[in-house]
Amino acid sequence: MNKRWTIGKIKDFVEKNSESTLLTTEYHGFSQKLQLKCACGNNFEKTFTKFKNNNQRKCDVCQPPKESR
Ligand SMILES: [Zn+2]
Repeated sequence: MNKRWTIGKIKDFVEKNSESTLLTTEYHGFSQKLQLKCACGNNFEKTFTKFKNNNQRKCDVCQPPKESR
């Protein structure tokens, strides 16, 4: 079963689960890159899948992407 995400739910999720803010106002699907604003003030792009499932909830400066485990 697929959970249906709307832009409102995503915005809510972003605000409750991170210190980032969602700038995008329309959601078109999991492959879409969302515009987010990090707590440090930088804007960054991330798909919601990565944001939610891979815990990539900050900009590349606060959370460098090459981190692996
Ligand atoms: Zn940042």
